[in-house]
Amino acid sequence: MSAIDTDHFRGLLLDARKRVVAALQNLHDDHAGSLSDEAGEETAYDNHLADTATETYDRELDYTLEENSEHVLAEIDAALQRIENGTYGTCTNCGKQIPEERLEALPWATLCIDCQRERERR
Ligand SMILES: [Zn+2]
Repeated sequence: MSAIDTDHFRGLLLDARKRVVAALQNLHDDHAGSLSDEAGEETAYDNHLADTATETYDRELDYTLEENSEHVLAEIDAALQRIENGTYGTCTNCGKQIPEERLEALPWATLCIDCQRERERR
């Protein structure tokens, strides 16, 4: 069994953690005013149009994150903890090694694909 490159995954996790923390901060700072109010003001200024488009996109992302980011943050911290105690990359359900391709896509995965599917079926 090949050892997992935990330094690599620690890097991925810390990166993701930074993004999630920033997103959470945004959510908490950014709840003043509705999108339509701001868009109404900004159409008066041509140079702001590009900003408005970006903002719309960011907000859609925020709505997704709003439901998930605190959960994801907890998962990331738990994964970092598992790197520290040497259990990272092992399925918490069946104890098999989680394939690195899966960890690459979802560094905080706690379940192998089989167990994940099993869980989603319920
Ligand atoms: Zn499993």
